[in-house]
Amino acid sequence: MLIVMKTDATDSEVQAVLRVIEDLGFKPHSMPGATRTAIGITGNQGAVDPSHFENLSGVAEAIRVSKPYKLITLDLRPEKTIVRVGDATIGGEELAIIAGPCAVESRAQAFAIAETVRRSGARFFRGGAYKPRTSPYAFQGLGEDGLKILAEVRDVYGLKIVTEALDEAGVDLVERYGDMIQIGARNMQNFSLLRRAGKSHLPILLKRGLSATLDEWLLAAEYIMSEGNYQVVLCERGIRTFAQHTRNTMDLAAIPAVRRISHLPVLVDPSHGTGKNYMVTPLARAGVAVGADGLIVEVHDQPDHALSDGAQALTPEQYEQLVSEVRAIHDVIVPAPVS
Ligand code: PEP
Ligand code: MN
Repeated sequence: MLIVMKTDATDSEVQAVLRVIEDLGFKPHSMPGATRTAIGITGNQGAVDPSHFENLSGVAEAIRVSKPYKLITLDLRPEKTIVRVGDATIGGEELAIIAGPCAVESRAQAFAIAETVRRSGARFFRGGAYKPRTSPYAFQGLGEDGLKILAEVRDVYGLKIVTEALDEAGVDLVERYGDMIQIGARNMQNFSLLRRAGKSHLPILLKRGLSATLDEWLLAAEYIMSEGNYQVVLCERGIRTFAQHTRNTMDLAAIPAVRRISHLPVLVDPSHGTGKNYMVTPLARAGVAVGADGLIVEVHDQPDHALSDGAQALTPEQYEQLVSEVRAIHDVIVPAPVS
């Protein structure tokens, strides 16, 4: 059930609706928009009777929701969500660029790359302190020491820190040191982690699972939002297909497909989406051209010596070139505001 309030509904009318929902034992999710407030209802097993709401003052409509998701939809919020990370945004007019090494390897490495990221004008630095590696013998990340390095990067360069939490305890730690929590592809359906992320005060970057359908991915975002955290950013990072010329197949069509259903911002990750250095820039251009709100790109000062994902890491020079190219594309497809 979705309650749409009249455009001139008052705050106290909205509050009255929220109280009725709570009295019925359900959870209200109020989404104020540019022209009207909509209120989603979760926690109900069966259909909710619209007559509870139809005659309340300030209510325009009580609509039954037939889709499997409620909170991620444009029905609830017709305008795009702008996720705010301090003074940086994702989903607004600015193209969001999140860049950094796959893994934080040392203070010197993180600082050298952060220098490049800062110079490019990107607002976000991403590096893993906890890495989800296929092999238990591969480099697993520096753990909390890596988080401390990331926190220093934020202090020195003013970049917002995006880093992955592998489990619920990891969310506690990232909340202490970071600005945005990444949930990786392998954890997209880790439902207890999603619920914990939904209780966080930090925004969540939710990567698409390796073999997740669009609905599964959106329902994972719905899990987070249903717990009350509405600051969710989706990220297309490529899926498993029969293709052997790439590490993953970056599903560019997912961007307009998400856009048609959801108000959430959506990014592309051409690094994991291709796995190959020479493909990252072409696919980054394509991602921005199909309407992504930004990019996640892996950069390394010494890709040949990277402890993880070196084959897909851009050099600082390649990264700087990529940024100027994608900005030019973004400027063409997003018309400048009329002043
Ligand atoms: C990563 O971002 O380095 C990573 C492991 O990503 P994914 O979860 O998309 O594989
Ligand atoms: Mn990586």
